[in-house]
Amino acid sequence: MAGMSTDLGTPPVLSPDEAERAVLLAAPRGYCAGVDRAVITVEKALETYGAPVYVRKQIVHNKHVVQTLSDRGAVFVEELDEVPAGQTVVFSAHGVSPQVHADAAERGLKTIDATCPLVTKVHHEAKRFAADDYDILLIGHEGHEEVEGTSGEAPERIQLVQGPDDVENIVVRDPDKVAWLSQTTLSVDETLETVEAIRVRFPNLLDPPSDDICYATQNRQLAVKEISADADLVIVVGSGNSSNSVRLVEVALEAGAKASYRVDDASEMREEWLEGVDRVAVTSGASVPEDLVEGVLALLAERGYPDARAVQSAEESLIFALPPELRRDMRTAAAAAQG
Ligand code: SF4
Repeated sequence: MAGMSTDLGTPPVLSPDEAERAVLLAAPRGYCAGVDRAVITVEKALETYGAPVYVRKQIVHNKHVVQTLSDRGAVFVEELDEVPAGQTVVFSAHGVSPQVHADAAERGLKTIDATCPLVTKVHHEAKRFAADDYDILLIGHEGHEEVEGTSGEAPERIQLVQGPDDVENIVVRDPDKVAWLSQTTLSVDETLETVEAIRVRFPNLLDPPSDDICYATQNRQLAVKEISADADLVIVVGSGNSSNSVRLVEVALEAGAKASYRVDDASEMREEWLEGVDRVAVTSGASVPEDLVEGVLALLAERGYPDARAVQSAEESLIFALPPELRRDMRTAAAAAQG
């Protein structure tokens, strides 16, 4: 991939065309409350227990975050059998199935559960619908960790629906006892389309008690819509396995952006993307540290674009408490340190 020089050099002299340029920055963007909590959980676990602390799967779907935590002593594994007996393992923000909790207990592992509380909410909904003997249609992407975790709450009752095309093949026991749930990081508009297609087949479809697509996903999609309509180019900072980041590219294009690309960081920006481009919009997914966005803005400035103007479309103030099992150990460690 062609990288761009990051040598700022002499400030550029703007041509008339360049004077028309603008950079809009979506707000909110970047870290959500669940990602913030999960990353701090691993940091505090390292401080409290010392390295290594094992983490099942990527704690959040961002390769820079994973690398930074690895450098500090976190060891990322795919499955629990890679964690030595008696060690501490953190479960990622995407959640795990009850089977994973059972496996950890059987192996004598100490567990810290960094599942986002908004994912846990969907798990509770799945358990409740299953207890009421509903067939549950889970709208989401096959293979995504969150979908695997939620499905594990009631594997015999949950079936995955990836989009409207899947609806005709759904088989249920009783068409009047069908409920739907969704992954938290989907496109709001696409999910509504899928739900409507399901409702045509099952008019008595039961809705979840509240939105499963989380506030952060919704806010970031609204924010990118606001700045995409007139944009020649929308850059979404985020990793390729980050569902909400990938959705932001799709939402930007649907909202009217002429082009949109996802990059992990400024080094993935391509020279040709900026050819003839005046209006650039920038946002980032819910697992993206702000310094990666700043890198993209610095690169745009180097290419003669003006300072970014933030376009605020929602305020966010949600904070989640750290997992209780970690808070308890932090208190114990603090008391021991005081003697
Ligand atoms: S994107 Fe939403 S569900 Fe996922 S971690 Fe963030 S707040 Fe939680």
